[in-house]
Amino acid sequence: MASVKLEGVWKVFGNVVAVRDVNLYIEDKEFVSILGPSGSGKTTLLYLIAGIYKPSRGRIYFNDVDVTDLPPNKRNIGLVFQNYALYPHMTVYENIAFPLRLRNFGEPAIKEKVLSVAKLLGIEGLLDRYPAQLSGGQQQRVALARALVKEPEVLLLDEPLSNLDALLRIKIRSELKKLQKELGITAIYVTHDQSEALAMADRIAIIASGVIQQVGKPWDVYYKPRNVFVASFIGTPPANLVSVPLDSSRRCLLLPGGGRYCPPRRIAEKLAAVKTNSVILGFRPEVAVLSESPLGDYVSMEAEVYTVETLGRENIVTLLVNGSQVKVIVPPVVEPRPGSRIFINIEEDKVMYFDPETEINVE
Ligand code: ATP
Repeated sequence: MASVKLEGVWKVFGNVVAVRDVNLYIEDKEFVSILGPSGSGKTTLLYLIAGIYKPSRGRIYFNDVDVTDLPPNKRNIGLVFQNYALYPHMTVYENIAFPLRLRNFGEPAIKEKVLSVAKLLGIEGLLDRYPAQLSGGQQQRVALARALVKEPEVLLLDEPLSNLDALLRIKIRSELKKLQKELGITAIYVTHDQSEALAMADRIAIIASGVIQQVGKPWDVYYKPRNVFVASFIGTPPANLVSVPLDSSRRCLLLPGGGRYCPPRRIAEKLAAVKTNSVILGFRPEVAVLSESPLGDYVSMEAEVYTVETLGRENIVTLLVNGSQVKVIVPPVVEPRPGSRIFINIEEDKVMYFDPETEINVE
C-alpha cells in the first residue's frame, strides 16, 4: 500500500514561490501525471514528494504516515530522471545493483533481484556493458531497472522519456504504463508533454505558476477544463476561445453573424451571475462542423476562413471570429476557400463557458 498525500504544501526559494499551497491525494497503485509548462513547479513538487526538498510549509504523508521530515532514503521511493543519471564507470549490472549494495543485501540476493528486474525490462543481454555503450532507450531502461530493483512503493519519474526520439517515446510509454499496473506500484510522472500525460495517467494534475489548476481523469481535463489555462494548454490544437457579448437579459449570447443563442437554464443562471457583459465561449477544434449557412440545433457563428492546412488524415482550418483566431479540424474533403465567409456549428452540449474576469468555467 502506498498512497501519497500533500497538505497545504509550499516551496519558496528566496523570492520565488515555486509551489503554492498544493493539496493533492494520490491513491495506492494510481498513475498520476504532473503536467505543466516550463518553470511551473513540476520538478519542485516531485522533489518535495521524494524528500530531496523540504517544504517551506505543509505536510506530506505516505499511507497516512507523516514523512515530511524524512530524507529520500527513508521514503521507499524509486526515482528516474530525464538524464538517467547512470554511473558511467559501472556496468549495467553494477548500476542496477547499486541501491541494493547500499542496503547491504547479500550477493546471492543482489544477483537474483538484478536478473529478475533486467528480464522484466528486456535488458538481460546488456548487463556487462557500460552506459556509454548503450542507446538512449537502453539507458532509460537501465535507469528504470535501478529505480525498481529495491521494490519501491512509489515510483517518481521526472520527464524520463524526453531524451528519446518520438517513436521510441510512444513505444516505451505504453510499456511503462503496463509495467506500473503489473507491479501494482504508485507512480508520479512529471512531464510537459500533454500527449504523454493523457496517454499514460489515471489522473492528471495540471500545474501553472506553482498552483494546481485542475486534477482529473484525462477525459475530464480535456472536455471539462476548470479554467481558461487548462482549456488552452490541453489539446493539439488546444480549445478555441472567443469573446461573445451577452444580451440585456444576460442569459443569452449575441453570436457573431447575428444569431442569438439562449443556453439551457442550468447554464443561463450561471451566465447571469457573470459580472461582465460578455462571456468567453470555448470549444474543441474537433467538435465543430463547417457549413455555408447556420445549422439548426447547433450554436452557429459566422467566421472568415483564414488558412487551410492539409495534413492527410484531416485538414485544420484556421478562421477569424470576432477578431479571434480559431482552429477547426475537418475531414480532408472539406477545403473552404481562404477569405470566404462560413459558419462554425457546435453542438449545444459541447460548448464551454468561461467567466472573463475569473477565467473559471462557469459550469
Ligand atoms: P521545467 O519543465 O523547465 O523543468 P518545472 O515545471 O519543473 O520546469 P521547477 O524546476 O520546479 O519547474 O521550477 C519552478 C520555479 O522555481 C522556477 O521559477 C524556477 O526558476 C524556480 N526554482 C526551482 N529550483 C530552484 C532553486 N533551487 N533555487 C531557486 N529557484 C528555483
